Amino acid sequence: MSLLPTINDTTLRDGEQTAGVAFTLEEKSAIAQALAAVGVSEMEIGVPAMGPVEIEAIQEIAHLGLPASLMVWCRMTDADLAAAQDCPVEMLNLSIPVSDIHILGKLKRNRDWVLAQIQHYVRKALDSGFMVSVGCEDASRADPAFLGEVAETVQRAGATRIRFADTLGILDPFSTYAAIAELRRRVDIGIEMHAHDDLGLATANTLAAFRAGATHANTTVNGLGERAGNAPLEEIVMGLRHLHGIDCGIDTHALPAISALVASASGRAVAANKSIVGEAVFTHEAGLHVDGLLKDPRTYQGFDPAELGRAHRTVLGKHSGSRAVIAAYAQLGMFVSDSEAHTLLTRIREHATSNKRAPSAGELARFLLEVTRCGQNAS
Ligand code: MN
Repeated sequence: MSLLPTINDTTLRDGEQTAGVAFTLEEKSAIAQALAAVGVSEMEIGVPAMGPVEIEAIQEIAHLGLPASLMVWCRMTDADLAAAQDCPVEMLNLSIPVSDIHILGKLKRNRDWVLAQIQHYVRKALDSGFMVSVGCEDASRADPAFLGEVAETVQRAGATRIRFADTLGILDPFSTYAAIAELRRRVDIGIEMHAHDDLGLATANTLAAFRAGATHANTTVNGLGERAGNAPLEEIVMGLRHLHGIDCGIDTHALPAISALVASASGRAVAANKSIVGEAVFTHEAGLHVDGLLKDPRTYQGFDPAELGRAHRTVLGKHSGSRAVIAAYAQLGMFVSDSEAHTLLTRIREHATSNKRAPSAGELARFLLEVTRCGQNAS
């Protein structure tokens, strides 16, 4: 078992499960290749039970020979296992619900049945030559004592990993830490965190899970996934590096490009203020911030955007100060005096308020012309 946290990216499985999202075979291959190229060492690439087209895509990705372990997602049924036989991947995630509301309400079964299913299907998958992770659906609402029993059964059955799924995204980092630490006490096998972002806590919960002893985390590019999505790959990688001092071997320079690839393939645009990869997250306008950045970037920089191949950008707007105005004109090769900057600021603020965007270079040149003309008329 690797001591470093391992990313198991599920953009191609849970990511594609996002309502309205469907990747073509070419898009799936391109995403898998891009993920492997930046150093994602493990990925969950599909659901064999969906049928021949999905299996063909899984086979195609497997035949790319990428430097990454591949996993597919199955339920604990003979049909799902049979479909997985056609998939040349190393590992199966065998999913089973572990909360009473799912076991009794959805499946009309009981806890003993769940334990028996685990024993039966883990053995069966191992006999077929797969490594096995057991995915505990709705683990966050399971009776903790039963979840412990499930984990011990999973380990005894010969699985190498257990996945803790916060299926509904209802945990916070404290409850996640407690649940994963308890699992860690019960078993020695790998523990994978599968978080959902319904309360905006998927990243925080995943980092908490690592702190508590989880070895793996499911992520998706841009946090794609069911409903509010999963823990975003880019946030987990940067969070591990900057909060836990852990480098999980992923080249962060390529994260913006992968984000753009997945945004385009999924038809889900990335919000401008999306952390790490959003278009506007290194853009500054407020006078105080721009003044500080111009003096020393570290004043308003938590981490260097160069890690992502990006850079700070300043724009002029309603909250700009005159230093930013002078700097912006200097970049355009125009010298502006303090008093001109002051007058220009009024013009720029009017523009920003009515147009909801920064002025273009052409507009700035026009404003300067207007201001100097007014100046001449007055003199
Ligand atoms: Mn999920």
